[in-house]
Amino acid sequence: MSDLKFKRVLLKLSGEALMGDQAFGIDRAIVDKFAAEIGTLVDAGAELALVIGGGNIFRGVSVAAKGGNRVVGDHMGMLATVMNGLAMGEALSARGIETVVMSAIAMPEICETFTQRAALDHMNAGRVVIFVAGTGNPYFTTDSGAALRAAEMQCDALLKATQVDGIYSADPKTNPDAERFDRITHSEVIERGLAVMDTAAFAVTRENAIPIIVFSLHDETSMLDVLRGAGRYTLVSAKAE
Ligand code: UDP
Repeated sequence: MSDLKFKRVLLKLSGEALMGDQAFGIDRAIVDKFAAEIGTLVDAGAELALVIGGGNIFRGVSVAAKGGNRVVGDHMGMLATVMNGLAMGEALSARGIETVVMSAIAMPEICETFTQRAALDHMNAGRVVIFVAGTGNPYFTTDSGAALRAAEMQCDALLKATQVDGIYSADPKTNPDAERFDRITHSEVIERGLAVMDTAAFAVTRENAIPIIVFSLHDETSMLDVLRGAGRYTLVSAKAE
């Protein structure tokens, strides 16, 4: 019997989480550390989907900020997420964890092309599915992609791994008076304009009643604790319990 409170989950990691101490790119040791932790979740009976951002390599807004073409920049950003997803897929496969990489933009020589049905089949067969290229559209982020895929995969929760242990009223690193929320609703996050994920991601998860769990990559709470409903995190749900 599984003791998981959240069994089918989508885990969103930012691209920056893969950098480690580097200023750019992918630190293989860090990717392998995540792969090991994901392995503990799979062993515990979790059904896992992954979305990894691309900020460690490229962000479209940085092109636009310098007067460049935003859409091309976003295409480059989406390609960055493909690189990260492939790196994670390899690390998981090397540990014997069955993994499939699916892209929102067709690149059949490199990975599978996303369709909801094929992705569900993979998840139902116990494979870890890594969704890359975000939503496949410019002007979106991988947070929106994560929310969309969490809905399409009928996930019990979206796990958002961050640098801090939950959602605060302001950045706790610069504002010592920031209030931390244990529980909060999707609507409150949107209304208060809290900078956790973009509004589109919150709107999709609210609409589909998918809880969001925000937790830190840097404290004692493990991903497994979170799936068991234990440890320190902020739970965003339809009703603040
Ligand atoms: N991106 C996009 N559409 C999407 C997802 C991502 O255009 O649906 C692009 C966008 O340029 C973004 C980049 O990919 O800046 C990397 O994604 P994101 O910023 O979400 O990565 P993270 O901050 O999570 O590392």
